[in-house]
Amino acid sequence: PTPHTSEQDKPDIVPLDDGVPTAARVYDVMLDGKDNYAIDRKVGEASLAVMPELKEIALHNRAMLARVVRKLAAEEGITQFLDLGSGLPTVGNTHEVAQAANPDAKVVYVDIDPIVLAHGRALLEDNDNTKVVTADIREPRAILDNPDVRSLIDFERPVCVMLVGILHHILDEEDPNGIVATLRDAVPSGSYFFMTNFTRLSDSQESEELEHVLLSQLGTGRVRTPQELERYFDGLELLSPGVVPLPLWRPDELVTDATTIGVRFMTGGVARKP
Ligand code: SAM
Repeated sequence: PTPHTSEQDKPDIVPLDDGVPTAARVYDVMLDGKDNYAIDRKVGEASLAVMPELKEIALHNRAMLARVVRKLAAEEGITQFLDLGSGLPTVGNTHEVAQAANPDAKVVYVDIDPIVLAHGRALLEDNDNTKVVTADIREPRAILDNPDVRSLIDFERPVCVMLVGILHHILDEEDPNGIVATLRDAVPSGSYFFMTNFTRLSDSQESEELEHVLLSQLGTGRVRTPQELERYFDGLELLSPGVVPLPLWRPDELVTDATTIGVRFMTGGVARKP
């Protein structure tokens, strides 16, 4: 069958190990995936040494993603998802969750790392409603104008823009708030923004130590204060319960201890464009 992913002219080659770690592959290490190299495992081990809860945190992030996508697809009638910095295929991918609720839901995955496209192809061979695009969110206009994105996403209709676990890979000087604002201004009223981020913990050293490991070994990984994270949602109406530790966002199961670093290190929220 013909793959329905983008860039069909390019050969289906998984990028070689060039000795440089990438965020997509280090995250794959945290999720116990198989698509990572020794250099990614080295960064993963250094990160786990300062914050052993990171694997648990990655699972909380994936669990919130599934809760939000399910809710928006099943209860809010959202039929389009633009998943920016989508990462490698794992369990509970956005298109699987959204299309379980609504088989016609359209999903475009965007990631800077070509390994995501290479692995996405196989998964999406027979899915006309899903595409993978290799692009850089630091150029949001180019994503909005990308023909592959536009072939599935109609920007005249509400869309859920997902920036899940990616804005901490955008440095301050690369203007994460400006990127969000460009996307916010490009989508219609009734669209949703779903964002999660590393969060600076004022009562423990681990968040700053992890930032140091990531910035020095990966080149990205900004740990931002709760106030900085609230600013991502400027101009949007936050859904309850606001920007909160991931397991506390409309949990399926009661969270018995919300004081741990594993629960608190990442926070996220969902907001609607008025
Ligand atoms: N969104 C997924 C999740 O939350 O489970 C994956 C998050 S993973 C931690 C971050 C992803 O963002 C990686 O796959 C990385 O390649 C991607 N990324 C980092 N910088 C990017 C950029 N400037 N443009 C597009 N993708 C980027």
